[in-house]
Amino acid sequence: MKASARAIVIGGGVVGASVLYHLAKIGWSDVLLIEKSELTSGSTWHAAGGMHTFNGEANISRLQKYTIDLYREIEALSGQSCGLHANGGLMLAATQGELDSLKLICSRARYLGMETEMISLDEAQRFNPLIDTRHFIGALWRADGGHCDPAGTTHAYVKAARTLGASVERFTRVLSLAQRRDGSWDVATDKGTVHAEHVVNCAGLWAREIGHMVGIELPVLAMEHHYLLTEDIPELAGRAQEIVNTTDYAGEIYMRQERGGALIGTYEPHGIVWSPLKTPDDFSMQLLPDDFERLAPYFEVGFEHFPALGRVGIRKVINGPFTFAPDGNPLVGPVRGVKNFWVGCAVMAGFSQGGGIGLVLSRWMAENDPGQDIISMDVARFGAFATPKYTSIKVPENYSRRFRLAYPNEELTAARPVRRSPIYERLTAAGAVMGANFGLEHALWFAPEGVVPTETPTYRRSEAFPFVRAECQAVRTTVGIYETTNYGKYEVTGRGARAWLDRVFACRIPKVGCLRLAPMLSPAGRIIGDLSIACLAEDRYMLAGSGFAEEFHMRWFWQAEPPADVFVRSAAATLTGVSIAGPRSRELVQRLVRDDVSSSAFRLFHVKETALGFAPCILTRAGFTGELGYEIWATPDYFASLYDDIWNAGRDLGLQHFGGRALSSLRLEKGYGSFNKDFRPDYTACETGLDRFVDFAKPDFVGRDAALAERKAGPKRRFVVMEVEARDADVIGYESIMKNGAAVGYVTSGAYGHCVGKSLAAGYVPAALARDGERFEIDILGDVCAATIRLEPLHDSKGLRLRS
Ligand SMILES: Cc1cc2nc3c(=O)[nH]c(=O)nc-3n(C[C@H](O)[C@H](O)[C@H](O)COP(=O)(O)OP(=O)(O)OC[C@H]3O[C@@H](n4cnc5c(N)ncnc54)[C@H](O)[C@@H]3O)c2cc1C
Repeated sequence: MKASARAIVIGGGVVGASVLYHLAKIGWSDVLLIEKSELTSGSTWHAAGGMHTFNGEANISRLQKYTIDLYREIEALSGQSCGLHANGGLMLAATQGELDSLKLICSRARYLGMETEMISLDEAQRFNPLIDTRHFIGALWRADGGHCDPAGTTHAYVKAARTLGASVERFTRVLSLAQRRDGSWDVATDKGTVHAEHVVNCAGLWAREIGHMVGIELPVLAMEHHYLLTEDIPELAGRAQEIVNTTDYAGEIYMRQERGGALIGTYEPHGIVWSPLKTPDDFSMQLLPDDFERLAPYFEVGFEHFPALGRVGIRKVINGPFTFAPDGNPLVGPVRGVKNFWVGCAVMAGFSQGGGIGLVLSRWMAENDPGQDIISMDVARFGAFATPKYTSIKVPENYSRRFRLAYPNEELTAARPVRRSPIYERLTAAGAVMGANFGLEHALWFAPEGVVPTETPTYRRSEAFPFVRAECQAVRTTVGIYETTNYGKYEVTGRGARAWLDRVFACRIPKVGCLRLAPMLSPAGRIIGDLSIACLAEDRYMLAGSGFAEEFHMRWFWQAEPPADVFVRSAAATLTGVSIAGPRSRELVQRLVRDDVSSSAFRLFHVKETALGFAPCILTRAGFTGELGYEIWATPDYFASLYDDIWNAGRDLGLQHFGGRALSSLRLEKGYGSFNKDFRPDYTACETGLDRFVDFAKPDFVGRDAALAERKAGPKRRFVVMEVEARDADVIGYESIMKNGAAVGYVTSGAYGHCVGKSLAAGYVPAALARDGERFEIDILGDVCAATIRLEPLHDSKGLRLRS
């Protein structure tokens, strides 16, 4: 075995093999894959090999397409067949909700360049004659996808990697990982120690155990999964073409042809966790005892929907384990605090996703940038809240919903409520319907007295619509209160704080007593944060941003290596907050503070430490609604008293609660984008319009060169808000924006603008088309709706109310 390598990939399943190939392809030929047994011997060897481009996240869909297209490349390079059956895919809907979801997939696919269309059930039956169409109301066909041979594909990656100089050690077990002072690793194996600059954890079923070797607890867990292989089916005999791989949402069944018979699998509601505490060292190429009795009722549904399957015998039952993260997407990227340690694990769809994971990980390792937005599979989307208990509850929930539709207004219930703010009970008593963001409960909307605080899952406007409207109107006409505890909050302190922030952020750092909107760029000039910085003292700053991105931003701060005189810490658990917004908000705040908060004494983007009622707090004049407003931050011990004081002081002013749904509507009426939805690492400062907060005169900040070059050349596309002539549904996200029949952009978020009386969509269009009044079409659940760009905010375009 080699004594050293630039990078060691642990695990020779399909994911490790892909990472090895991509590292070699990017030019890191000195890479070594270590596999404790034979290649494929974890989850990979017994997989059904299905591959498709479907994912709720467009960026992951794109990487899935990349993966499927890659197979021809590695076949050519390696001479090894991947056993491709590129017969496409069918998705069947049995309910209106499922049909809406298929239409949404179609609308999204156009911009992603995927050949996808809604077809009749008769056409669906021509693609797959085993379908009993009486059970369905609609079907989607997509050209991409099919199935491959799991072992052939893994070997093709490895052989292709070898042709590029990579090495593989099989039957070699990694026993421990020890980090040297320079951040490199001593990888101890049962055949000796290898020194490597980087280590990649692609250990699949054992990824958790490899994580333990470096002291981290990855949120990953294995579930048992069954599929059946049938005897030959007479209806398939003599057909020139294989039937198309078919997903049946109502039956929670997937099926495809396997030789003369069929392969049918199900994701049952009460799945079984496999090896919850520790994956056995000696497990490899084994199947688990099947439990057909338990699963029979679910397979029976399949036999009803595809009756020919029930008429033939079962040739084989496969039960094998594979891993999931709590939300079902992979865990990819570097881990905060553990230098040169990377993960590519919890991959539940290795044959659809393995190639894309290899691509982004190799770029990330070589170029310190994944090259595209992969937030939805970034390991940093989970934080400390994803404890083993959380994972043990969320993973089975996700498994049971693998083929259920994720409605945009649906909140999953498992492992909740866990993270609660001190006013959680007060808000639920006021009718709050809660969602969870980074594990923390937050109010989405409030059901008035007499209204049940629940909502039917739908792709269309729900019964919450009139209540959200009332919340928006309260903010625009009197005053509203919104809990901001779920924002990401950070403290940066120390003598070197200003200089460090100045380098990390693209904006000018505010003076003492002021707050500034603060874009953060990657070296390539892409938006990796859209925060605010409040300067409390020359050596003390409070930052606020997207709560979802807390770990993502903490990792970025760690990578930006704060010097010894700078201390950065998350204030997630030490600061709680509310936003007070609306024309009467000043009157309300003034009732509780001794300071003068009149418009001349406490202006927009000013901040002070003061007391509101009983609570010592940080008071800022800022907000996200486009109204006169304040954000108030206090420590959790005072928070309930602060809330009570505000509530009592505001009662006669018409104070109303508002939730996240109303906030989405209010912010879009003002044309404000939101990080994680509209602003993500795919977009640049000029594209997002955040360049107006960039201080290009600063001599040095991360991303400066790229941002300057872009400003000179002009952006290729621009963020815009459009009015949409929608009927009973608003955009959800990632729908294609069409012009003269061609997809020219896509939607990033949307809402109904209750106070302007229009449906609104935010998204990106080519810069040359980003003109006021330019018209487009957006397909909303099959309805082609006219959409018109409005460059001026629809509400208070001059910002007079904000500044009042
Ligand atoms: C029944 C079933 C059907 C499936 N069907 C599909 C499908 O149709 N389509 C699809 O895309 N996916 C499917 N999957 C999921 C798919 O199998 C996984 O996504 C994929 O195999 C994950 O690959 P991996 O490389 O991450 O992990 P693994 O395949 O588990 O590989 C990890 C490797 O790491 C090695 N390793 C672990 N610890 C060490 C150590 N200490 N030292 C050295 N080596 C180590 C292991 O021996 C193993 O070979 C299915 C899974 C099952 C169980």
